[in-house]
Amino acid sequence: MKKKPTLTSKILLGLLLGFIVGLVLKQLPGGYIKDTLILGGIFKVVGSGFTSAIKMMVVPLVFVSLICGSASMGDVKKLGRIGGKTMLFYLSTTALAIVLSLVLGSLLKPGMGLDMSSMVSGEVSIGESKSIVEIILSIIPSNPIQALANGDMLQVIFFALLIGIAINVVGEKAEPIKILFESGNEICMKMVNIIMLFAPYGVFALVADTFATVGTDAIFALLKYVAVVLFALLIHVSIVYGGLFKLFTKQKIKPFLKKFTQVAAVTFSTASSNASVPVSLEIMEELGVGKSTRSFTIPMGATINMDGTAIMQGVAALFIAQIYGIDLGMSEMMTIVLTATLASIGTAGVPGVGMIMLSMVLQSVGLPLEGIGLIMGVERIIDMFRTTVNVMGDNVCTLVVANSEKDLDLNLYNKNTESKIA
Ligand code: ASP
Repeated sequence: MKKKPTLTSKILLGLLLGFIVGLVLKQLPGGYIKDTLILGGIFKVVGSGFTSAIKMMVVPLVFVSLICGSASMGDVKKLGRIGGKTMLFYLSTTALAIVLSLVLGSLLKPGMGLDMSSMVSGEVSIGESKSIVEIILSIIPSNPIQALANGDMLQVIFFALLIGIAINVVGEKAEPIKILFESGNEICMKMVNIIMLFAPYGVFALVADTFATVGTDAIFALLKYVAVVLFALLIHVSIVYGGLFKLFTKQKIKPFLKKFTQVAAVTFSTASSNASVPVSLEIMEELGVGKSTRSFTIPMGATINMDGTAIMQGVAALFIAQIYGIDLGMSEMMTIVLTATLASIGTAGVPGVGMIMLSMVLQSVGLPLEGIGLIMGVERIIDMFRTTVNVMGDNVCTLVVANSEKDLDLNLYNKNTESKIA
């Protein structure tokens, strides 16, 4: 029986065909058929239609998924110190990840050399620079309905988190609302799946449009984008994770790395943090982490800790700003750090959601969503790597927290150095 092509292979095909058709179109003389009918008509409808559909999902998805996430945190108070330490680890490493991606993205400039500024309709403005006080104050919505209607992401997030916390605190009486939002979340995720069925066509149209306008410069820029993301992921893993592990546990990292290959096999093939939870729990047990730590840190991490996703979002935001010739100031960078931290928390541990959440980061600083079309072509490859980093962060945090709680059996941990099996 013939195997049905997967969505990923269809998207890659869309990318390839878009690239070829775009380059062929670039060679053809302009005129009604090429400029008005194909580029301005069919490609515009399909490409912009796809980005609009993604955009449509941002507010509802962020709103319900953050409510669900914060409402299901469980009895964090009871988990006391473990909860506090874990959250501190997750939030600070995510913020570090974005700062790192912004620094590398600014220094290495993956989008330099590609000018797509002529391709956005209307004026691209990034708004007035705001002071830090203004940024902080602007997070609190005076009218949450207006915040939802305007798609003001930070305000939406603030409101959603507060609802989730309140649901958590109210407990039993808030159960119906919790169920309502959980089912809303399921529906939103399904809607995203449906929209993603059109991704191959959307990617085809957007990429063809890009290459028909800018030609081969785009390939080079895209390769640079992938290289910068992978480089940032590598630095984050070796310096941040490696450093924190050494600093807090004073143990050799080799036993962990050997075991982690099993988890990496899952994250690589599924691009899903959620799918890796059972294997992570298993290797943590084998490495000597106690149940009370690992049963909290691993599922929690798979839900809210996405450093790899945050890195992709930081580099992608800069890449898009660079190809559209938009200068980002300090306050925009701050906004990106904040929104990407929150976006990665709100990202579900399943393939591709980080890319949907990227539109929220772009929107928060007024960057054009059309840029997503270009990077969508390399999305799955990056998703495999970033998911692996996301999950590695959960595992490292688990070891660090367990060690500080004396919930790590060091004999068992070190025994894994001698074992021959990976
Ligand atoms: N696939 C990622 C994960 O499951 C989420 C994302 O960045 O899309 O961790």
